[in-house]
Amino acid sequence: MKIEIARSARRRRTVGARLAGDTMHVKAPAGMPENKLAEIIEGFQKRFERQKLRKALNREQTLNDIFERLNKKYFTGNLSVKSIKYVTNQRKKYGCCNFRTKTIRISHILAEMPEWVRDYVVVHEMAHLIEPNHSKAFWDIAHRYKLAERARGYLMAKGMKTD
Ligand SMILES: [Zn+2]
Repeated sequence: MKIEIARSARRRRTVGARLAGDTMHVKAPAGMPENKLAEIIEGFQKRFERQKLRKALNREQTLNDIFERLNKKYFTGNLSVKSIKYVTNQRKKYGCCNFRTKTIRISHILAEMPEWVRDYVVVHEMAHLIEPNHSKAFWDIAHRYKLAERARGYLMAKGMKTD
């Protein structure tokens, strides 16, 4: 990512940034110290990189395909979801499902994990489309996925919450 900084006397306190292609254009107050500006720019950079990653992951449509495959295999194709997407703001929580709005969000960290772990996470969140809580009925559904316990162990070892 290239960075272009413009200092402006008219800017009082806040730093603005936008991404155009691969260049980040930064507008900063004239009097802001270098080290403070560098820190703020780093924050913007991280945010833009997360954004790019999230867009790239979701462009691939992989989660929708995975959903359909697992739907056929474990739910006789009966489930429907409004949206299933990767998000980049869940580092400790691998996924979440909103029972009411029928939306599933999966941490981008899962995109880098083995397929059988990612499949477990998707099945887990899919089971929440039927059972919102971690009830006995919920776990009966989640354990249709044979490697559920192994996947939970794997995620725990990675420091991720397993429910
Ligand atoms: Zn859960």
